[in-house]
Amino acid sequence: MTSPVFLGMPKPQELRPATRPGRRYFVRTFGCQMNEHDSERIAGLLESDGMVPAPSLPEADVVVLNTCCIRENADNKLYGNLGHLKPLRAANPGMRIVVGGCLAQKDRELIRQKAPWVDVVLGTHNLHRVLTLLDHAEEWGPVTEIWEETSSVEDIPSALPVHREVPHSAWVTITIGCNNSCTFCIVPIVRGREISRRPGDIVREVQGLVAEGVIEVTLLGQNVNSYGRDLDMNGRRPLFAELLRRVGAVDGIERIRFTSPHPKDFGAEVAEAMAETDAVCEQLHLPLQSGSDRILAAMHRGYNAARFLDKLDAARAAIPGLAVSTDIIVGFPGETEQDFQDTLEVVARARFDSAYTFMYSARPGTPAADLPDQVPPDVAGERFDRLIELQAAITLELNEGLVGERVEVLTEGPSRKDPSMATARSRTNKIVHLPGEYPSGQFLEAEIIAAAPHHLVGRTA
Ligand code: SAM
Ligand code: SF4
Repeated sequence: MTSPVFLGMPKPQELRPATRPGRRYFVRTFGCQMNEHDSERIAGLLESDGMVPAPSLPEADVVVLNTCCIRENADNKLYGNLGHLKPLRAANPGMRIVVGGCLAQKDRELIRQKAPWVDVVLGTHNLHRVLTLLDHAEEWGPVTEIWEETSSVEDIPSALPVHREVPHSAWVTITIGCNNSCTFCIVPIVRGREISRRPGDIVREVQGLVAEGVIEVTLLGQNVNSYGRDLDMNGRRPLFAELLRRVGAVDGIERIRFTSPHPKDFGAEVAEAMAETDAVCEQLHLPLQSGSDRILAAMHRGYNAARFLDKLDAARAAIPGLAVSTDIIVGFPGETEQDFQDTLEVVARARFDSAYTFMYSARPGTPAADLPDQVPPDVAGERFDRLIELQAAITLELNEGLVGERVEVLTEGPSRKDPSMATARSRTNKIVHLPGEYPSGQFLEAEIIAAAPHHLVGRTA
């Protein structure tokens, strides 16, 4: 059966009375914080329609897979999940399956060809249409709706209902899309050109969140440092550093984080604003990608290793106690053993608190996918292991250096692995496990008594 494909720019729907009271939903998210935040909105919309979370996927009436396409294994994961859903959908004719997000934006009808049992396919620009499209699927059968772009700031779905996992902490989108052209990256293709929200709208959203009990916000954008370049506020452009200060001035906001700044655009004014705004946490995610100047140039990153390290040193000098995390790709086309050694050298010098490490994955449609000299998977895999080993040793060393220190932590509820322990987070974004039960959203002072590679252990007495 062919399904209708709508391409165009209808306006966001009005919220409507609940039509699915008591029906159960399950949202599975793949990918980054942007997708996590989109999933919160999808869950919020489903709840505004009367639905409640299902305890597990097979018990759900509506299953939403919110997809990512940054790396190829994301495709494999989606089609694996859809394969498992096929018999469930066949056994439960009332079940509806929705596929949304970046992979849906990219693959569109391919998803329906490979998995005709999917009811709704929607892209990155129209997630707020999920209820309308579910209604359509009920009445008319499977539907695919992909918008080509988000045409204006009014279409950014910031005012939608949201279901937050941690009630005191919220993501706030400040930009969508990306104007950079990193040669490995598919984000500009699936998320479109960069659009910034107006500072006043962002501040109002944060004030509204505080009124709902939120005390921590994470500002989200693919390159937060280019925030405001597309805005004209009476002849001038608002800067990210100003936005940080304005959000920091909102009464009741205790912690501000942001992700990601781009090293090429990360300047002294942002480090100063971080240092001078009490609520901004001593945490920076600064994606390195590679330590080789040759590879950085081939990636179109716009900085070299020395410049990256200079910016890192300047940020650390401006912000005492700053913890830094990064992203690194191993096995970019043409990467030699010497290029990789350069990466290891920068990692050893930078002493990141943590790193998200990725094996390069060729994404069709990106310039790097067509480069010669694709690195064989076994070579990339072996380099990947060496990088992880080096970073794990640095992370553990830095964590061990914190033993004996007293730090402010914010509780997040019981630990998933050991319910006799509570999980909390330091301002530097480190997970701290504490014995005892604490309500989520409580500030405590903890003494760090032990360190592990991915968490710390503390006590409050
Ligand atoms: N905008 C962010 C920035 O510039 O740092 C990155 C966003 S992307 C969702 C997150 C990370 O995925 C990137 O920093 C990069 O390390 C990794 N990534 C992106 N494309 C990739 C690819 N084709 N293969 C492997 N890793 C990739
Ligand atoms: Fe992708 Fe580069 Fe944009 Fe980040 S800055 S989203 S890596 S194109």
